[in-house]
Amino acid sequence: MQQQIQLRVKPEEAYNAITLIDILSKSLGKSQTQITGYHILKQSIDARSRQQIWINLSILAFINEPPSTRFDDKINFPILPSNAKEIIIVGAGPAGLFAALECILLGIRPIILERGKDVRSRRRDLAKLNKEGIVNPESNYCFGEGGAGTYSDGKLYTRSNKRGSIEKILRLFYQFGADERILYEAHPHIGTNKLPHIITAMREQIEACGGKVLFEKKLVDLSIEKGTITHVTTADGDIFKAKAVLLATGHSARDIFKLLHEKGILIEAKPFALGVRVEHPQSVIDAIQYHCLVRNPSLPPAAYSLVEQVSDRGVFSFCMCPGGIIAPAATAPGEIVVNGWSPSKRDNAYANSGMVVQIDIATAAEFLVKNKSKLNSSVNLNNPLILLDFQRYVENKAYEFGGGKQVAPASRLVDFCTQKTSANLPDASYLPGLHPANLGEVLPNFVQHTLQEGFKAFGKKMKGYYTNDAIVVATESRTSSPVRIPREAESFQHPQINNLYPCAEGAGYAGGIVSAAMDGQKLAQAIALQLK
Ligand SMILES: Cc1cc2nc3c(=O)[nH]c(=O)nc-3n(C[C@H](O)[C@H](O)[C@H](O)COP(=O)(O)OP(=O)(O)OC[C@H]3O[C@@H](n4cnc5c(N)ncnc54)[C@H](O)[C@@H]3O)c2cc1C
Repeated sequence: MQQQIQLRVKPEEAYNAITLIDILSKSLGKSQTQITGYHILKQSIDARSRQQIWINLSILAFINEPPSTRFDDKINFPILPSNAKEIIIVGAGPAGLFAALECILLGIRPIILERGKDVRSRRRDLAKLNKEGIVNPESNYCFGEGGAGTYSDGKLYTRSNKRGSIEKILRLFYQFGADERILYEAHPHIGTNKLPHIITAMREQIEACGGKVLFEKKLVDLSIEKGTITHVTTADGDIFKAKAVLLATGHSARDIFKLLHEKGILIEAKPFALGVRVEHPQSVIDAIQYHCLVRNPSLPPAAYSLVEQVSDRGVFSFCMCPGGIIAPAATAPGEIVVNGWSPSKRDNAYANSGMVVQIDIATAAEFLVKNKSKLNSSVNLNNPLILLDFQRYVENKAYEFGGGKQVAPASRLVDFCTQKTSANLPDASYLPGLHPANLGEVLPNFVQHTLQEGFKAFGKKMKGYYTNDAIVVATESRTSSPVRIPREAESFQHPQINNLYPCAEGAGYAGGIVSAAMDGQKLAQAIALQLK
């Protein structure tokens, strides 16, 4: 017999299998030996009460019968026949990889062209970036096998539950090696130490089925005849015939946006968000969220999510990483971009989060017009790359006011909000190093002002958050794409090019690993329909 039950237990009970069996047996009125096993179906933390933190559990208990495995079958990827139709997927991020896996299920051979390197070789470039501040424009935190998702926190939650099956994505991550916890935790994450193995397993599966994943193959040109791509060319001169091209190059592939624009292929400016990354000692966030001096060791490092409206502009936390590290996420020398990641245990001493402000086209354009004399090119308000110019401007400013190489400009939090340059900075997780700076020199006034008011408001919501023990680091600018590549609502084809399928984050249709993966799957299905 199987029985589903909702439990509300203490943290030390939730994470202890023996205690949990005891609680289950009492709650179900069965002896412990009758309970042969259980699956946690859902798990969330309720930290609203100051007296007691609770863990809410939904559990499927097996009584007097052998417990089943979580899934009856693995998703089985077939070997493709030699005459399988081929499509080109550009980019091996979550969108490209999940699209490729979906293609295999649909009997199509995916050929992935990826500008970066495999995860192992990529790791060496990241070490250089962190230790020596050297940015390899083809291999960094955004480019390479697994895309921006590989060396990320691997948070797997999304609000885009209408865009596809989140469950299917989580199940695939689990099948390729992620911990079972991702299937039931309210806020699942994988961790940077585990993601590379999972990404490698996905690639090996694609190759074992007859798909191809080609590294250091940067798409540099598209040959188009009568609204159809016939060939694509990579930087090394290789040419690939194209029946369909799924373009999943991410939000940082500026050369792709430029290429499309130069070829007269429609793209549009898209509002995005930009700001800073804020880092607190994890103990400060734990104390606030768990109402304690020291975190109960049974509880995970605490997270937060904040949002505030300052005048007519939204400011919000983004990609919060408990127990995490601030990462240098630039894709070219001469710019500073930060992001965050954490290991699976989230056991680093700091909690970081992006804190970003909505950037609309009109205000960004106004800012660029004012700063026109300092820019190389004149500002054209109809330019679809205008927000990309804005993004780049701020990233270059961060570099100018940083300490050279990837040393990022930073300030203590209260100093930032009171327009002071910090005399010194506390220890921080950002490996290339920090340089005390007046971030008013880096950020446009409206961004700085909105962040300042936002931080003060967050300090009222979370007592202890507004502290000079925290730092802000510029600049968090790759939150989503500043460009949209349009596509038809039903067929997902580009309106001008019938076999071009703009996909996921870079095209403006996803934000985050899971939504990018779902978009990849969805477009693979659309292409399969079209190829029929
Ligand atoms: C440090 C960091 C931490 C993050 N943490 C999280 C998190 O915890 N949770 C979450 O949901 N999201 C996180 N993100 C964001 C997440 O990684 C992205 O939303 C997601 O990877 C987008 O997927 P994508 O496939 O659309 O694009 P990407 O992952 O950006 O992949 C695009 C791929 O295309 C390749 N490419 C680009 N141009 C070309 C070209 N011309 N030719 C061939 N290949 C090309 C790139 O090398 C890259 O591999 C994080 C990002 C970073 C950088």
